[in-house]
Amino acid sequence: LKGLKIVKTIEEWRGIYSELKGCSIGFVPTMGYLHEGHQSLIKKARKDVEVVVVSIFVNPLQFGKNEDFSTYPRSLERDSLLAEEAGADYLFVPEAEEMYPSPTLAKVTVGHITDMMCGRSRPGHFDGVATVVTKLFNIIRPTLAYFSIKDAQQLAVIQRMVQDLNIPTGIVTCPIVRESDGLAMSSRNVYLTPEERSQAPILNESLKRAKELIEQGERSVQQIVLEIKGKIEKAPLANIDYIEVREYPSLDQKEIVEGQTILALAVKFGKTRLIDNIIVNV
Ligand code: AMP
Repeated sequence: LKGLKIVKTIEEWRGIYSELKGCSIGFVPTMGYLHEGHQSLIKKARKDVEVVVVSIFVNPLQFGKNEDFSTYPRSLERDSLLAEEAGADYLFVPEAEEMYPSPTLAKVTVGHITDMMCGRSRPGHFDGVATVVTKLFNIIRPTLAYFSIKDAQQLAVIQRMVQDLNIPTGIVTCPIVRESDGLAMSSRNVYLTPEERSQAPILNESLKRAKELIEQGERSVQQIVLEIKGKIEKAPLANIDYIEVREYPSLDQKEIVEGQTILALAVKFGKTRLIDNIIVNV
């Protein structure tokens, strides 16, 4: 690796940061096992700023007791190549002990918009996300940080946190990168069995169909949810966690579709929980 520098400690980054002397810094936080979705964020940052930093940190704080923290796919070698190929300058890869040398007593909580959807199925998850993103922002001190609407609720939480706490980092929103059959790219897709993988495109198909219905004039949230549910239930291995149609980014519930609206879902295939969404403007 010629261009990419691996940084393991906060102190090491502070040293590099002090040499950068006011260069614009673009930051792409990830949990690693990079794919073209992550690479699209890195490429966007490469165009916008002088220095591109990618972090890889599987954050124990955002995983529930029975979730996949220990099995989450990890490969620094592979990630280094993909990050460098996309144009990253630095890869920040702290150990858990570097980020949490002692149990954290301070936490960042974003209220209300974390009570629903993924927040309901994963209690504490968004506190973990908000806390680690705050820590990473305080360490890296980025000018701009890049997130995808793939994790739409996470993005809403981070935008609200940055706004409410006056965090001096600009948040850049990036689109969802998909496989050729429409499945949203995710590090977790490697968990899927061939049979589950073949059924997984139903998520995007059902969302696209619902978007078409809205474009044809359907406005009933209940009808739209039923339509998506009916399609997904045709996939025998799919287990619906939630299907929601809400205003975005407020996540307010509506009976009638109006304004910027998210059609979002979480569906389990075996132990693998997948999320996807489409935003429509009405
Ligand atoms: P993760 O490694 O899953 O925590 O994701 C790190 C960042 O990559 C987040 O901003 C995600 O929203 C984004 N991301 C994940 N999947 C995709 C995708 N399919 N397309 C674009 N960005 C993605």
